[in-house]
Amino acid sequence: MSLGSKSDLYRKLPSLDEFVRAPELAFLIARDGRPAVIHAARVVLERVRHEISAGHLDALAVDLALAGLVTAVEREIRISVGYSLRPVINGTGVILHTNLGRAPLSRAAIEQIARAAAGYSNLEFDLDTGERGERDAHVDRLFRHLFQGEITAAGTGSVATIVVNNNAAAVWLALNTVAAGGEVIVSRGELVEIGGSFRIPDVMRQSNGVLREVGTTNRTRISDYEKAINEKTRALLRVHRSNFQITGFTEQPSLHELVSLARARRIPLIEDLGSGAIFDLRSVGITGETGVAESLRAGVDVVTYSGDKLLGGPQSGMLTGRSDLIRDMRSNSLFRALRVDKLTYAALEATLLAYVKGEYDAIPALRMMGLTKASICARAEAVAGALRTSDQIQIALIDGESVIGGGAAPSATLPTSLLAIAIKNLRPGELLSRLRGADPPVIARVQEDRVLLDLRTVFPEQDATIVAILRAEATPG
Ligand SMILES: *Cc1c(COP(=O)(O)O)cnc(C)c1O
Repeated sequence: MSLGSKSDLYRKLPSLDEFVRAPELAFLIARDGRPAVIHAARVVLERVRHEISAGHLDALAVDLALAGLVTAVEREIRISVGYSLRPVINGTGVILHTNLGRAPLSRAAIEQIARAAAGYSNLEFDLDTGERGERDAHVDRLFRHLFQGEITAAGTGSVATIVVNNNAAAVWLALNTVAAGGEVIVSRGELVEIGGSFRIPDVMRQSNGVLREVGTTNRTRISDYEKAINEKTRALLRVHRSNFQITGFTEQPSLHELVSLARARRIPLIEDLGSGAIFDLRSVGITGETGVAESLRAGVDVVTYSGDKLLGGPQSGMLTGRSDLIRDMRSNSLFRALRVDKLTYAALEATLLAYVKGEYDAIPALRMMGLTKASICARAEAVAGALRTSDQIQIALIDGESVIGGGAAPSATLPTSLLAIAIKNLRPGELLSRLRGADPPVIARVQEDRVLLDLRTVFPEQDATIVAILRAEATPG
């Protein structure tokens, strides 16, 4: 291609000014604003110029590119000023899915966030005295209310709660406060690695403390703890085995034995519960899990747990326990770096109020756990019925299991009814990826030759969206 013909091609392109004045762009300017449109138009025109200069386009291709300029600008705007963090439909059946943002918030929590965000609040202001207040007060009162029975039963005096950014930070703050220069004893069987980067031994090293490991991976006796206690011992640590189970020939001291030892030797017992349910898990058929209340009642001194796992609230980490120890942790200068903002307090307060009022169904994660297989099956039948009108779709209902997730109860699954879907001439992996590309994206999984969807984690009002998206995928062309 000669230079002359290239400059002819360039001349076909509008100038940026001309292009932005084109009537077809007026709608985009009204919708997304002039700066975004100018930016996108510049990117698109540059791209065409670049293609011409690389000799990739002849006159016909340039005409085609010109015809598609507005569409190209629209696509560019969608990418550049669209959201990267977007809502998705969770069809995986994993209720507390860390990669999908863990617990969805209750309606009240969302409204309370909006109210706190929109204006000023009494976050650290005491409305009675007109003086400075403490941000902890808003939720500490509710935790006290929720754990009142346990406090009395354990005879611990008073129990306080402080909130930090997540449970990893809570464990970190607890150990950093008690361990400095001393030792914390933990069972080798509990030295878990959570999510790849949160390792208890590293946390200890950063606290200038030493983690003293006792027992073996599968067997630790109370006498192992007893023998390890010395004048440097600052705490006993118990960690929930969130992500794995040790079965077979195992032995761990009971919570009761640990409490008795800690009390006898006047050493605090700290328990990292991880998920930390504050409702009775047996109500959804899960047994063998200790909740926050049970730990406190048994006499654990400080319990740490997440806000966005079984509690069903915002990302946060709680430290609940003996008020003198909690006060020390609150006065640790690192608390300031780990504290949470007003939006988190707003969501947490609303979530805790639902517990106080016994309105468990208001919390989406709890509601999803409580769904019966029959009710999920009825919704799946309705979705299947709406899709069977297309001869491109093969759909069946099969038995399966939903998972609680979030490191809660590794063995805890709930019976469910799964939609097993295949679309003619579409490999399951391809269908899976097209569902991710839908708006909103639908996250599913593949088993054998079918795509599986578990409606337990889909909000009922999203069922119709799933039908529409699958119909669109099954429509040829
Ligand atoms: C999940 C978990 C953590 C980390 O909690 P985050 O809130 O994600 O920081 C720590 N310990 C245990 C036992 C857990 O299950």
